[in-house]
Amino acid sequence: MYSIYEYASRVGGLSHDSTRRILAIGEKLFDKPHLNKKFIEGEVGWGKIELVASIATIKDEKDWSKKITTMSFGALRSLIKKSVVHDGVDARDLYENLNLKLKRKTLSQFRVYKKRLEKKERHPMTWDDTVDTLLKNKTTVPPKPGRNIPKAKQDKLEEKYKGVCAFPTCTKPADVIHHPERYALTKNHDNLKPLCKVHHELAHHGLIKNEEQDPTTWELLQKPENSYLKRKIDEKYQKARLQSVGH
Ligand SMILES: [Zn+2]
Ligand SMILES: [Zn+2]
Repeated sequence: MYSIYEYASRVGGLSHDSTRRILAIGEKLFDKPHLNKKFIEGEVGWGKIELVASIATIKDEKDWSKKITTMSFGALRSLIKKSVVHDGVDARDLYENLNLKLKRKTLSQFRVYKKRLEKKERHPMTWDDTVDTLLKNKTTVPPKPGRNIPKAKQDKLEEKYKGVCAFPTCTKPADVIHHPERYALTKNHDNLKPLCKVHHELAHHGLIKNEEQDPTTWELLQKPENSYLKRKIDEKYQKARLQSVGH
């Protein structure tokens, strides 16, 4: 004995999937004589009948059986799509998935943006809301202001790093604006880098190689290479941090 699938394959040359779909149509049409007739006669492609079988009712099946002879598959599909609309909006038309390949840094910046937006709006935002805001409004959500650092300089950092730690491989939100040359030594805000908590701590242990250069040249060190003066300042920082005084 053959299974219905084997039979359909040997006799009708149908794949397993086609057989399954045709059987399903037959089941849906058993109480719909007009459509069933079209189905059995085989004059109308079964793709169209499958489409209509998914929504036809006993009441309107006669009407559909006429439509499938005169209308194309495409026309039927858009008609059916429209008829399953709820509250005037079909959710399938509203949303579409997008697969984006982003640099880790860019993705982190996007996440930080979303978090800040939620903080500003005081409620959770969907990714859709977030993109919507981005598209509508080019201005970024301002980060917490750094102490005594001129706004123009903070804006420049914001533009470049968008609230993410400057360490090359780091994707964490920036926690502080750090002075790689130490403010206590330079008394200026010329060289600034936003850093996360961890990289800030590492910086003040002298463990970031080329700390005063562009972050693309940064690397972690096992032993500090900082100057004596910097080490002295960092010792103060380390003590302060332990006392939770912070930066
Ligand atoms: Zn610092
Ligand atoms: Zn970091």
